[in-house]
Amino acid sequence: MKKLSYGRQWINDDDIAEVVRILRGDWLTMGPTVEAFEKKLAEYVGMKHAITFSSGTSALHGAMNAAGLQEGDYALTTALTFAATSNSIIYTGATPIFADIDPKTLCLNTKTRITKPVRAIVPVSFAGYPLDIKAYRAIAPEAILIEDASHALGHDRKEFADMMTLSFHPVKHITTGEGGAVLTNNDEYAERLLRFRNHGMYQKEMIELGYNYRLSEIHCALGLSQMNRLDEFIARRRELAAMYQKQLSGVENVILPPEHENHLWHIYALQVTNNLRDELSEYLREHDINPTTHYKPVPLHKYYREHYGYHDGDFPEAEKYYEQEISLPLYPMMKDEDVKRVAETIKEFMRRKNNS
Ligand SMILES: *Cc1c(COP(=O)(O)O)cnc(C)c1O
Repeated sequence: MKKLSYGRQWINDDDIAEVVRILRGDWLTMGPTVEAFEKKLAEYVGMKHAITFSSGTSALHGAMNAAGLQEGDYALTTALTFAATSNSIIYTGATPIFADIDPKTLCLNTKTRITKPVRAIVPVSFAGYPLDIKAYRAIAPEAILIEDASHALGHDRKEFADMMTLSFHPVKHITTGEGGAVLTNNDEYAERLLRFRNHGMYQKEMIELGYNYRLSEIHCALGLSQMNRLDEFIARRRELAAMYQKQLSGVENVILPPEHENHLWHIYALQVTNNLRDELSEYLREHDINPTTHYKPVPLHKYYREHYGYHDGDFPEAEKYYEQEISLPLYPMMKDEDVKRVAETIKEFMRRKNNS
């Protein structure tokens, strides 16, 4: 039987031709394709600047630097994310502060109360659920708002954070292999981001410590070509997610993910109650369906416990969510029958549980 993974890229012949064209040409890095991809990204999202980076993680590092984070500063983020979100805060010398999720959105709780002044707030659009930008601004109006939009490349935003970061890892909405970007409407941030990814150089003078975080022409050619199908990818993800929602509704021991008309569906994250999650995962794997889980709350990783003193029980909603969560296969190349197969396999598992 066809193996289904939780996510994967979709590369077609046009993508391949565009990459080959670059390989045969004069510029492998720092050429016109980087700028063309950045222009396309900025236009698509509806922001003024897009600055590409070598990964989503280096893009986050760039954003934290542009926000001016440094030793002695604090930045607020969600417990339910990939470690890169808060690692990038630590790279600058600043200290991350974690808060719990709102179980209705799975994103950083907008009612979070801070006890220390924060220079930045870094919410994550979990699974692609749209963020309430206004509500996050209200937590600390003077803080710089940085959206980790690694799950949420789309064009439906009505309001924008001060910066927004993207990842082009193969499971994300479009891919460049590895890659990322920061989008902003702020000219000064854009300038700092450009400098930071290029050794801290400003016109031939190195004026601050920077990095080589550039994305090559080869990567950008792939990204630019993938942009041609982004609308299609998003539409298909929405279609597949709607099928799951319908086919799994009313199934025992299952909590469906929250819906939103602008949801971008990076992952389809189901909750399984009654301690059945691991057994169900095993059962799916036996049927050539490979789910995964998102995410172990970052502050409960060994490094964070040891350095920042977090404990089990500090983030009850994120912890409960993590114990029950299973990410089912979701990627645009999937067929309707694939969703049906996954849903039927889950129903079969629950029926067996009921009869045993
Ligand atoms: C993928 C991802 C990142 C990092 O992206 P890379 O491109 O793998 O470095 C950061 N934050 C979140 C929430 C992600 O899903």
